[in-house]
Amino acid sequence: MTQILPEITNINAAFWQGGKNGELFISQCDDCEFFIHPPSAFCVKCHSRNVSAQAVSGDGTVSSFSVNFQKWLPELETPYVVAIVELKEQENLRFVTNIIGCDPNSVRIGTPVEVTFENHEDVWLPLFRPKEFGAET
Ligand SMILES: [Zn+2]
Repeated sequence: MTQILPEITNINAAFWQGGKNGELFISQCDDCEFFIHPPSAFCVKCHSRNVSAQAVSGDGTVSSFSVNFQKWLPELETPYVVAIVELKEQENLRFVTNIIGCDPNSVRIGTPVEVTFENHEDVWLPLFRPKEFGAET
């Protein structure tokens, strides 16, 4: 794990805990259907407060990334990939995550990825792995 565990709130619980059932939830406006991330109680586009967490495909592409070789923590496995993944549901619907399950040197901008989850306490971190490696785990 390379992330500090987030604090769970009513607003972000679906995002951080959806992985319990293998689903990635993103806040979506019920009025204009705009996806919002980080999780929010109101729509940044139309200011509606009718926002709810919706399950998305979990498919996306790597928008940018860096490979980290620094062992910040003794238990940290290096090298690892820190990436910004853009979900296929909406342009610029992005978040920072790790790419796992592949050779870090094989990651490219545009690599198709799919969500996978890593459970820590009451949090299921959404991480991504290249789609071509998606069949086996
Ligand atoms: Zn809206």
